[in-house]
Amino acid sequence: MATQRTQTDDTSTALATARRQLERAAAETDVNEQVVERLKHPSKLLRVAVPLERDDGSVEVFEGYRAQHDDVRGPYKGGLRYHPHVTADECIGLSMWMTWKCAVIDIPFGGAKGGVVVDPTDLSPEEKERLTRRFAEEIRDFVGPTTDIPAPDMGTDAQTMAWFMDAYSMQEGETVPGVVTGKPRVIGGSYGREEAPGRSVAIVTRAAAEYYDVSLDGLRVAVQGYGSVGANAARCLDDWGADVVAVSDVNGAIHDPDGLDTWAVPSHEEEPEAVTTCDAPETISSSAILELDVDVLVPAAVGNVLTASNAPDVQADFVVEGANGPTTAAADEIFDERGVPVVPDILANAGGVAVSYFEWLQHINRHSWSAERVDEELESKMLSAWDAVVEAAEARDVTWRVAAYIVALSRIAEAKDTRGLWP
Ligand code: GLU
Repeated sequence: MATQRTQTDDTSTALATARRQLERAAAETDVNEQVVERLKHPSKLLRVAVPLERDDGSVEVFEGYRAQHDDVRGPYKGGLRYHPHVTADECIGLSMWMTWKCAVIDIPFGGAKGGVVVDPTDLSPEEKERLTRRFAEEIRDFVGPTTDIPAPDMGTDAQTMAWFMDAYSMQEGETVPGVVTGKPRVIGGSYGREEAPGRSVAIVTRAAAEYYDVSLDGLRVAVQGYGSVGANAARCLDDWGADVVAVSDVNGAIHDPDGLDTWAVPSHEEEPEAVTTCDAPETISSSAILELDVDVLVPAAVGNVLTASNAPDVQADFVVEGANGPTTAAADEIFDERGVPVVPDILANAGGVAVSYFEWLQHINRHSWSAERVDEELESKMLSAWDAVVEAAEARDVTWRVAAYIVALSRIAEAKDTRGLWP
């Protein structure tokens, strides 16, 4: 379906993109307008000051947020991000994506996102711990194991969740592992949580390849970003027979038309920013990787990398979104006009929150699952979601993104209708 190309583009905020995607998808559904209007706004937004004593004894105050979008299907759920560009609007936009993500994969959570406006690479480990403990204290009344459950996101990790959980538990007077997910295993984390977003990107790439009747064996894939999502997606696809021909980090990309050994390239977690130090026939820029002639492009770094300026030059047969919000609304329209399918973030990287849900269940049941069980349940969740999205796409002749929104919105609207409006 061709739509009018819009002018605004590269400056899209996550919130602007999320609202435009919602409006576009809502136009294709019979979801009640009032429900759509409610879903354009977060139900709550908390802004806090987070004072931090630096290692030199000085005190600096950082800004923190937690946006709760919608909880009609269950507790708010979503990551905490430490990044200098965090804003209230970004948290709201990302919290909306979490609501759709949880609904598409049919887990009983709503959407939230939060963060602190800070460059985590400027913090010593001790400073990061103090900042996290104080942030946990500032948002303590807002979160809880049955109300709002944070998880890792950009700039935070399992250790950050451990500090958060400890700070929360100390004030509650009891250990509350269910207040966060993505914890280290030794304190109630799940097998497979770290790998899950990348693994789900790989599962969905394999399903899309099958759908388009192309073999995974020798499928040429380029992965932009070699952090937790990108490296795990690349390694899974490599293990399953695909040729990962290019990967990148902030310094640039390495390219080998015969396929790279993805296990030999260190991920950001293993050795930060080391991709271009690895042996490869060719080194290219981290923007040029987006325009390589490959079968599949996986943008798995940051938001807004596929824009009106480079979308016309993308040569991949299809795109699978590993990052949250890598494609601006204008780029999406260009891909639609050019017939380049884009498998959206709210489906592709939803494995992270799926395994967060498994972790939360394991805590409630006081029973830990094996790594094999986590992988099996993840595979089954992702494939059911993929089937639901395929059904919606074929029934309405819409893009993968609109189809995923249709699946999510209809589940959310049905829950809202069933519960009714209070009072
Ligand atoms: N931060 C991750 C995401 O964007 C996961 C959130 C979670 O597990 O709650 O999907």
